[in-house]
Amino acid sequence: TVVTRFAPSPTGYLHVGGARTALYSWLVAKAQGGKFVLRIEDTDVERSTQAAIDAILEGMEWLGLNWDEGPYYQTQRFSRYNEYIEQLLAEGKAYKCYCSVERLEKMREAQMERGEKPRYDGCCRDKENLSGDKFVVRFRNPQTGSVKFNDHIRGPIEFANDQLDDLIIKRTDGTPTYNFCVVIDDWEMNITHVIRGEDHINNTPRQINILQALGAPVPEYAHVSMILGDDGKKLSKRHGAVGVMQYRDDGYLPQAVLNYLVRLGWSHGDQEIFSLDEMIKFFSLDDVNKAASAFNTEKLNWLNQHYMKSLPATEVAMYLRWHFEQQGIELGDGPSLEQVINLQADRVKTLKEMAAISRYFYEEFADFDEAAAKKHLRPVAKAPLQKVRQRLADLSTWNAETIHKEIQQAADDLEVGMGKVGMPLRVAVTGGGNSPSLDVTLELIPQLTVLQRIDRGIA
Ligand code: GLU
Repeated sequence: TVVTRFAPSPTGYLHVGGARTALYSWLVAKAQGGKFVLRIEDTDVERSTQAAIDAILEGMEWLGLNWDEGPYYQTQRFSRYNEYIEQLLAEGKAYKCYCSVERLEKMREAQMERGEKPRYDGCCRDKENLSGDKFVVRFRNPQTGSVKFNDHIRGPIEFANDQLDDLIIKRTDGTPTYNFCVVIDDWEMNITHVIRGEDHINNTPRQINILQALGAPVPEYAHVSMILGDDGKKLSKRHGAVGVMQYRDDGYLPQAVLNYLVRLGWSHGDQEIFSLDEMIKFFSLDDVNKAASAFNTEKLNWLNQHYMKSLPATEVAMYLRWHFEQQGIELGDGPSLEQVINLQADRVKTLKEMAAISRYFYEEFADFDEAAAKKHLRPVAKAPLQKVRQRLADLSTWNAETIHKEIQQAADDLEVGMGKVGMPLRVAVTGGGNSPSLDVTLELIPQLTVLQRIDRGIA
């Protein structure tokens, strides 16, 4: 069965590139009825933090990328790795290297002077009876031939063994190194497909050599390309939101982010919108692009609006509620969030904006928008507001239809266009010059509140 994994190093947030890799791995597992493993690669204890682990788990959960196994933590598996290192030592497939830091430093300098790539010269490789208490363990890499693998995205890749030196697999302090831990884990966790960023291509031949020395099967590899910013430069903090939770904070739905991520480097005909089921059905590593993909905020916005409008309002409401809380807006006995979503989804790109522009349904606004008030309210609007107030006050049935009639009637009475009544009314009741159609907006606000706000507008 297919087993994939996502193996982040907890040194920062779950960023866009990582989230996409996780999604692709998750989809491959789901599509084949396989398993998806989460593994935290926290061997770099200096840079790994609990906060980063939490942020990664939170991001995965928010996106709905549930794992079938794990999270495993590499720091909890050191004794496992060391057992294998002992085994390789016993079999002569690894050796202890006693070279001092000074010696290695000199060696490197000399190599660089000769214009060579610095690499271990194999000094301790074939010496017997070396001893001392300070040593590292190196993997005895084959010196001839080459390592070939067929990358699922990039095609055949080959590295000559004489370009790879004898990798340190255990440090002087006794801890195993990163590339070794990955190999043991991928093997013991029965990983069939290693899907990861292209920055790991150079590790792959080393990892394959170690797997082969252990007699372990070699998984399939797929190295996913980089993501560039809107400006074609490498995606970085400068491009704003790089941690996925920032997208939640900015008002994006996880459905939109997932759909956005899946299309970032993968296509299926010219289809843009994919439900999760469709992603699972159609996704294939064969259709992943090996060119770098560029981030496109406008497209993300477009997808977000699409999902705000098309997902069941009850589902969107769950996420919108959070944004109201964030903005300190108490819902009290105001209109249902579903009603607000139906009215506003067309007018905004994010839930954060939606909450912000919907404040007037739930609270008194602090002050009128200055420009709108100047244009529509004072002092021109006294007569229309008085007229429409009187009509609205007399209504015994408060709904869009009856409200609409009264506004129309007020304009007719005054022999002016609807706008001459509507705009002042809009500013008085919502605080600004932008809102959905007045009848449906006012319908969601209690009649008494509307009348009080009109009074405030007249005053
Ligand atoms: N821990 C590595 C990273 O975060 C991923 C290694 C892998 O997928 O093999 O870049």
